[in-house]
This record gives sequence, structure tokens and C-alpha cells, in this order.
Amino acid sequence: LDTLDIKTIREDFPILKREVNGKPLVYLDNGATTQKPKAVIDAILNYYTDMNSNVHRGVHYLSQISTDAFEVTRRKVQEFINAKHDYEIIITKGTTESINLVASCYGQKFISEGDEVIISAMEHHSNIVPWQMLCEAKGATLKVIPMSEAGELDMDVYKSYLNHRTKIVSVNYVSNALGTINPVREIIRLAHENNTPVLLDAAQAVQHIKIDVQELDVDFLVFSGHKMYGPTGVGVLYGKEEWLNKMPPYQGGGDMIKDVTFEKTTYNELPFKFEAGTPNIEAGIALNAAIDYINELGIDNIKKYEDDLLAYATERLLEIDGLRIIGTAKEKSSVISFVVDGTHPYDIGVLLDKLGIAVRTGHHCAQPVMEQFHIPGTVRASLAVYNTKDEVDALVAGVKRAVAMLV
Ligand code: PMP
Repeated sequence: LDTLDIKTIREDFPILKREVNGKPLVYLDNGATTQKPKAVIDAILNYYTDMNSNVHRGVHYLSQISTDAFEVTRRKVQEFINAKHDYEIIITKGTTESINLVASCYGQKFISEGDEVIISAMEHHSNIVPWQMLCEAKGATLKVIPMSEAGELDMDVYKSYLNHRTKIVSVNYVSNALGTINPVREIIRLAHENNTPVLLDAAQAVQHIKIDVQELDVDFLVFSGHKMYGPTGVGVLYGKEEWLNKMPPYQGGGDMIKDVTFEKTTYNELPFKFEAGTPNIEAGIALNAAIDYINELGIDNIKKYEDDLLAYATERLLEIDGLRIIGTAKEKSSVISFVVDGTHPYDIGVLLDKLGIAVRTGHHCAQPVMEQFHIPGTVRASLAVYNTKDEVDALVAGVKRAVAMLV
């Protein structure tokens, strides 16, 4: 665990100094949202203190500097995921909006009655419901790749699903409920052999694993700023130019048009065609600082550190009698979901909170996953780069104490 100086990193996150219920905060709910480094908080403050004004509109000075700062983020994202063009980066509100955009616009153009959409058994609700809505509207069919007891996708079934009716495959890179890293290269390769595009939900991947969209050859990739040390209210849709150009716009409004008359409107070019209305400007600008922060630490260093910490946490939690980890895939990232015999996840969560330890309990917006494992939910500890072995020890001690009280 030596490459990164975690003590110094922790200093960058003001909130980590606070206490909760009289105890030092142990924040292990990073899958829900990460904390923000001072550089991100300062970027938001600086925007309102020094440059607040609308983007892409004014000729005046403030509008130019805020537009420039917003566009710097677009190019930073481009570089971060190695997109070929900056106009392939659409700034959205977050993962959910990005998926809804693709389901709506790609769906409108390319999906008709009798077609098929493939997702997986371990998707977040935001990568289930938009496709369900689309399929219902179009008379298409949703196919779900099943997973094993370990939480690994059944690739043989996936292969058997692909056919001339398959119009899109949409799966997560890393499962937020189980931590499974999916074999995305193989998923994409097989889909492309079938001439089917793939959307990757990278909401739980982009902050942990180096992503290169050209190397992956993925057609759409989506993620949220707030899970990668950035602000809420901003996210990304990467789309290959050829697809984005073929898709109709999402919402109508300002910024997405070229010319408007009451008879006919012509649309703006990429990326603005998909960015109607005033965006979340301060969040867009501050996302740049979040990516800088990740780049300074180095995504590969982050991955190594978190993988070691995940292994340590797994080993230590398994010391606890009756504790069962849900999701035991060979390839995992940053998430440990567990249940303890004779206890309800919610009760463990409440008792941990009394000790200042923040975890998530429940179905993690992945109810079908819980159904497969016949459990009401799990306790989920999800790691970020500022977490430490000491915090894992505090979690283990806390769970032991909770179990002693509950069983
Ligand atoms: N997909 C995955 C895998 C997620 O973990 C989440 C957030 N928990 C989402 C999608 C939705 O992201 P957001 O709420 O930021 O739109």
C-alpha cells in the first residue's frame, strides 16, 4: 500500500476531519458518492466568486471565461478516456441522464417492434428502467444476461442471445452492488461481430480503472462526476461520432439549435445538439479539478492501492462468524457487499452509524440482484483512495460489535 501517501491525500478532503456521533468519520459509502477534495470545492467557490455567467451565449468577458472553463472540462474528459474528438463528449447531469439520452435517441431511431435489447442481471435500476420503458413503447424485448452465484455473467447465454434482432447491449463495467468487474472487452467484441453497438455504464469504473474508449472500441460510455471526487449534477456521455450524428436530439431548447422558425428548426452540431438549456456550469467546471486530482495521483496507483485494501477488507471481514460476502467474482473492484446470519443489514448500518461509520444498506438500486440471492439487501462498504487499513479495522470491529448486540 505504499505508492500513494494516503495521509497527505486525506488532508486534501476537509470533510474527513469531522466527527459523526462523537467519533471520527469513517466514510465507506463511496459507491454512492465520493467526498470532494479541496481543489474541487475551491473550483466551485471560484466560479461563483470570480466568473459566474452563462456559457456559450455572451460576447462579454465573464461569459467567455466561463465558456472557456466549461470547454476545458470537455477536453479534459476527452483526454481522460482517450476519446478521438472533444465533440464526442456530451456533458449531462449524470449517468442516469446519459443512459436515458441513449435509450431515448438511439431507441427512437434504431429500435422497432420485434427488436431486442440486452442488459445484464446485475444492472443498476438506471440501466434497466430506461430500456424497459423503450421496449414497452416500441414493442421490443429486453433480454437479461444471467449471472452465477459468484456474481459473474454467463457469457455462453450472452452469446446465444446475440442475433440480427439485437440492436444494443448495455451493461455495467463494474457492478455497484457486487463489485464484479465484467469482461467488457469480450462483451464488446462479441457484440461487434454481430454489428451491435455497446453502451458501458462506467459509473463505478472510471474512478478506479483506466479507461480508453478507443482501445475498448466501445460505442457509448457513461459516468457521473460525483462518484469520481467531482460535484453532483454533472456527468458524461461519450458516444462515437457516427452514432451521435445519426441520433436525433434529446431535449429541445436553447443551445441545441442552429436556426429556429415556427415552420422548422435546424439543429446544432455535436456536442451542442445534445446539450439543450443552461447546464450545471459550476459542476461542469469543477469536474476538471476532479480529473486533475485523479491524474495527479495516477489512476493505476489508485487501482493498486484500492485493490490491496479490498483484499485486506475481504480477508478481515471473513473473520466474522456468519458473515457471507455477496459477490465473489474473481475480478472485483472497490465494493464489498455482505450479510450476517441472523441480522438485518439495516440494523447493522444503524449501529455502525452510531460509531461514525458510513456504509450503505439495502438493495443499492439493484433489486433484481437481491432477489437472485434471496436477501432483502446487503451492507455495502465501498472504497475510495483516501480509505485506510485503520478504517477497515474500525469497520470490522464495528460489525463484530453490532453482531454481538443483534444475534
Ligand atoms: N449505474 C451504476 C453502476 C451506479 O452505481 C449508479 C449510482 N449508484 C448509477 C448508474 C446512477 O448514477 P447517478 O445516480 O449518478 O445518475
